[in-house]
Amino acid sequence: MSDATVDEGPVGDGTRAVRAGLPEPVKHEPTLPGPVFAAHFHLPGEVTGPYSYGRDDNPTWTLLENAIGELEAPGRPDVETLVFASGMAAISAVLFSQLRAGDAVVLPSDGYQALPLVRAQLEAYGVEVRTAPTGGDAQLEALEGARLLWIESPSNPGLDVCDIRRLAVAAHAQGTLVAVDNTLATPLGQRPLALGADFTVASGTKQLTGHGDVLLGYVAGRDAEAMAAVRRWRKIVGAIPGPMEAWLAHRSIATIQLRVDRQNATALTVAEALRQRPEVTDLRYPGLPDDPAHKIASRQMRRYGCVVSFTLPTRARAERFLAALRLVEDATSFGGVRSTAERRGRWGGDAVPEGFVRMSVGAEDPEDLVADILRALDESAE
Ligand SMILES: *Cc1c(COP(=O)(O)O)cnc(C)c1O
Repeated sequence: MSDATVDEGPVGDGTRAVRAGLPEPVKHEPTLPGPVFAAHFHLPGEVTGPYSYGRDDNPTWTLLENAIGELEAPGRPDVETLVFASGMAAISAVLFSQLRAGDAVVLPSDGYQALPLVRAQLEAYGVEVRTAPTGGDAQLEALEGARLLWIESPSNPGLDVCDIRRLAVAAHAQGTLVAVDNTLATPLGQRPLALGADFTVASGTKQLTGHGDVLLGYVAGRDAEAMAAVRRWRKIVGAIPGPMEAWLAHRSIATIQLRVDRQNATALTVAEALRQRPEVTDLRYPGLPDDPAHKIASRQMRRYGCVVSFTLPTRARAERFLAALRLVEDATSFGGVRSTAERRGRWGGDAVPEGFVRMSVGAEDPEDLVADILRALDESAE
C-alpha cells in the first residue's frame, strides 16, 4: 500500500480505523508521531504554510482531523474536519458561527442536557429558538423559514431516533442547513453527511475515544464557506484541544471498531436480559427489534450504540440498584470501556421519571455484566 491513509476503497471499519489519519511513513519515525507541543512555530519572513501560531493550527490536530474525517466521510476529500476542546465547543461553534440575530433555529426538545443553556444564550443574541421532540420526525413541523435544523439521533438520554434523510430533504428544499449530533452513534454507527446533513458534530469524549480520560469535540462539514466560519469561530473563541489530548484521542480511535463492536453487542445482550424483568419498564435500545426506534434506526445506522435506558419503579429502587452494582460504576457520561450507569433525574433538566436509569455498556465480558446487573436487580428489590 503506497498511501498510509485508507480513505477510499472497499476496506472494513477495523482496517480503516487502525490506519486512520496516519501520515506517510518516515524511516526511523513512529507510525503515529507524538504530540507536538508548540504555542508558536518557527516562522521567519512571510507567513506561509499552515503552522504559525498554536491557537490556529497544530500538526497533531491535523492528523486527528484526518482520522475523524476518514471515519465520518470515507473517500470524501471535500469534507473538512475541525477538532475542538469538547463536544460543547464544537456544538457552540456551529450554532454561533452560522446563526445571526433574526434567524430561527430548530433544536430537539429531548437532546443533550446543555442545549437549554445554549438556547438561552442564542435567545439573548436575538435568535429565535424552536424546539420539537426527536421521535416521529416532529421537528419537521417547526422547520418553516428556519436557518438551521439541529438533529440529535439517537437522542440522549431518551434514545429516540428520527429519519435524518427525510428531515434533511425537507430542510434543504427550503434552504435550511442541517447539523446532526453524532455523539451516541459514532461515525461507525452512522454517517450523517452521507444521509444529507451539512454538518456532523460530536463529542469525542464518549465512545469515539472510549476511555473516559479525554474531552474532545469535532465538526465535519462539506460546505467550504460554512466550515471557514466554523474555523474562524474556533480561532476567536480559542476552544482548542491540547496536543496531548489530541494525540490520546488519535491513539484511542485505532481501537474504535473493536470497542464499538464489543460494547454494542453486549448492550443488546443487556437489553435482552433487562426485558425479562418485570420491574423494568420503558426499556429503550434502538438495536432491539421491537424498539419503537428500530425501524428507522436500522435504515440509517450500521451500529446502535452502547447506551441502554430503562425505568425502575421508584427513585429509591434505582438508587439501591446502582449502589448494588459491582462492575458498573455510578457515573455520568457514556461510551467508555468500563460500564457506567446513573439515575438521570439527579441532574434535573432532562424530562425523565425519577427511576430512569441510563446505562453505558463497556467492554467487560457480557456474561459477567449480565450476572452483575441481574444480581443487583434482585438485591435492590424491597
Ligand atoms: C456529552 C455530549 C455532548 C457534550 O460533549 P462534551 O464533550 O461533554 O462537551 C454533546 N452531545 C451529546 C449527545 C453528548 O452526549
